[in-house]
Amino acid sequence: MKRPGIMIKDVFKRLTMKPVTSKYPAEKSPAEPGYRGKMEFYVDKCISCGMCAKDCPSFACVMEEIDGKKRPVFYLDKCMFCAQCEESCPKDAIKMTTEYELAHLAGNPQIVK
Ligand code: SF4
Ligand code: SF4
Repeated sequence: MKRPGIMIKDVFKRLTMKPVTSKYPAEKSPAEPGYRGKMEFYVDKCISCGMCAKDCPSFACVMEEIDGKKRPVFYLDKCMFCAQCEESCPKDAIKMTTEYELAHLAGNPQIVK
């Protein structure tokens, strides 16, 4: 080691620096504007047209009959968060949110319905 003084100076400098990492999950950072996370579905606006399911490129959105009404169900383990369903819906019944905490146990996918 030719110049140990440089290294020691750097060590002390970094000891007094604030951490560059966040304390997630204790401190949750907000998502950037425009981030596409988990969608919200407003069943009262839905007219059961099926456009969202027809246009979904990853078959994550499928029409199912629930309480006697056909409506979309979103399987988040297949979703790529492209927001095509939101774009295709003529009634604004689907809204992408900035929710990004979508971890789940294997075999137990998150479903939005
Ligand atoms: S965000 Fe894209 S992939 Fe996910 S359900 Fe909507 S259309 Fe399908
Ligand atoms: S496109 Fe909109 S209105 Fe049509 S089924 Fe999907 S959520 Fe309902």
